[in-house]
Amino acid sequence: MRCPRCSGLDDKVIESRSLAAGESIRRRRQCLSCGYRFTSYERIEEKQLMVIKSNGRREPFDRAKVQRGIQRAVEKRPIGQSTVELVVSEIEDEAAMQGLPDHEIPARTIGEMILEHLYEIDRVAYIRFASVYRNFSNVEEFVREIETIRDQKRQTAERSTEPASDDGQYELYNEENAIAAEGLEPPTERI
Ligand SMILES: [Zn+2]
Repeated sequence: MRCPRCSGLDDKVIESRSLAAGESIRRRRQCLSCGYRFTSYERIEEKQLMVIKSNGRREPFDRAKVQRGIQRAVEKRPIGQSTVELVVSEIEDEAAMQGLPDHEIPARTIGEMILEHLYEIDRVAYIRFASVYRNFSNVEEFVREIETIRDQKRQTAERSTEPASDDGQYELYNEENAIAAEGLEPPTERI
């Protein structure tokens, strides 16, 4: 926090005290530049992040719902539970930031965030989620998405001459083979 006296940005907390049955915390801070002591209060952000659905209705952001969608997409994929939870937390944080200042975010934006993260961690999971989320209406659309990914992958490969360090992981990601082998079981719940 910015020191009220010298505007320095570094301080240390010298005392924390819980107030009003834990609803807020009062911190005594000391500026590391000039030694000035000041007090800050921390309260729970009461305003709930609301998700604007495609029909215009709003509902509270539901972390569990995001997690279920991701969980279904990564089913039987080599993705650990801790990775899933990390991604859910990142999406929750990004959604809270993007939802400012009105504490509202379109469901669509959250869906795109999930896609971005899945794209990074597992292409099969990405395709599974995208097939439901983007509502592929036919096989052609689906194949086009796969080809887009392949093109992006090729471009990425051409950009870097060094062998990718995650080769071992990515050899699993021949999307068509993987999907054919595992059967496509996309998440049924739309976010
Ligand atoms: Zn200061």
